[in-house]
Amino acid sequence: MECQTVLPGRECNFWAKSGCVHTGSSCKNTVEECEGCDRVIEGTIGKVCSAFPAPAKKWEGGLCNFATHKKLEIKTADVKVNPLKASKKAAAAKKK
Ligand code: SF4
Repeated sequence: MECQTVLPGRECNFWAKSGCVHTGSSCKNTVEECEGCDRVIEGTIGKVCSAFPAPAKKWEGGLCNFATHKKLEIKTADVKVNPLKASKKAAAAKKK
């Protein structure tokens, strides 16, 4: 249903016939870590997230998985693979 308080007219899964069913009956403002994210939008209560109603919770466990401005860097070790050995290994695995 369409939100009628924080983001009037915007489709929201938390808006029910009885009003906003999110904790505290409202979205929460974005937090400092959200600065620069493309999902920050202006609501009637100030800056809110267009993807999640409680931005602070998204950062409690580390990086927000919806963030557009920060990405998790995964470093992989430089592993050299001999293509011939890899091919033989793959063929042996198929036989099993
Ligand atoms: S997607 Fe994450 S980082 Fe971006 S505004 Fe929402 S809570 Fe903040």
